[in-house]
Amino acid sequence: MAGRFALADRMALIDASGIRKVFDLAATMKDPINLSIGQPDFDVPEEAKREAIDAIARGFNKYTQTQGDGPLREAIRGIIASEFGWGADYGHLVTSGVSGALVLAFLALLNEGDEVIIPDPYFVMYRHLVNLYGGVPVTVDTYPDFRPDPARIEAAITDRTRVLVLNSPANPTGAVYTQTELEALAAIARKHDLLVISDEIYDAFCYDGPFASIAPLYPNTLVMRGFSKTYAMTGWRLGWCAGPKHVIEAMTMLQQYSFVCAPSMAQAAGVVALSLDVGPYVEAYRRKRDRVVDALGESFGLIRPGGAFYAFVPAPQGQTATEFVRKAIANNVLIIPGNVFSAADTHFRLSYATSDDKLARGLDILRSLA
Ligand code: PLP
Repeated sequence: MAGRFALADRMALIDASGIRKVFDLAATMKDPINLSIGQPDFDVPEEAKREAIDAIARGFNKYTQTQGDGPLREAIRGIIASEFGWGADYGHLVTSGVSGALVLAFLALLNEGDEVIIPDPYFVMYRHLVNLYGGVPVTVDTYPDFRPDPARIEAAITDRTRVLVLNSPANPTGAVYTQTELEALAAIARKHDLLVISDEIYDAFCYDGPFASIAPLYPNTLVMRGFSKTYAMTGWRLGWCAGPKHVIEAMTMLQQYSFVCAPSMAQAAGVVALSLDVGPYVEAYRRKRDRVVDALGESFGLIRPGGAFYAFVPAPQGQTATEFVRKAIANNVLIIPGNVFSAADTHFRLSYATSDDKLARGLDILRSLA
């Protein structure tokens, strides 16, 4: 629409997420085997639910401090001290999910034309937010094994590069970066004086070894973690961000004029959640990961994903991912074509965050289609 009711020019820079299009398609399917979902199939742990209900009942329903409520901040302070060795010269902020942290960070950091390096395939929000806030997303191809090749990343750096985005364990590939890879990335960031945004929302879901963060290796890191995946609280909108104080202070000021604070009852429940052991859930997902690799490893040439709850699977030879996904959907299996997350349309994302029964049926159908 033109004239006074026209939208801002920046709206032309983004489009509806491809995932949304797949979900719209899913709405037309009868009882699909849905392997497209980016959230856990378990529910919020009982103790956390009870604490949220208690918090509401005792009247903990008002605004909290913009930077987050005391007990949750205390818990976060403990995490960044013990895991990263970060003390009082680092800041931290409770956010409305990692999405909230990403919005505030890019808004606080980017000037017109600033370049942000994003390994491809990527979580779609990175590219859209960078575009919206005037930055330039510079994607770096990580096919075929989704490792962050330091040479390829360094080759993408220009004098406009400001930020390097890392996401390990990764959506959509399930890749988990090794300590050696993180050291190489830290060296590049140091050499070129970049800020690293480390999206660690899947930190709990590492199947072949402990999770490693770049944060203790490189001080100019903005770490983002969430409760959505680890504690299945996707609807509660809770996350946190920690890093260089001046960046966190700027993000806090922006939060004051946007989200105001993260939901109060979710913050109360978050403290309880952080004390819980999610080991059994992770173990269940490790078994599902193994099932996916057993079923598709050889027939599809799937590289074993080390974390998150996704496999990024090559489409059968001679077909684009979009073509294969169309066939899968015609056979009642919902998966997402790789071009939603990437410049390439060669792979599809399968989420194994579903029941064992549905996963088994879905894998059978995909194999029969290959
Ligand atoms: N980062 C990644 C890599 C994700 O996959 C997601 C959700 O799918 C998010 C961030 C956003 O999570 P939140 O619910 O904490 O906003």
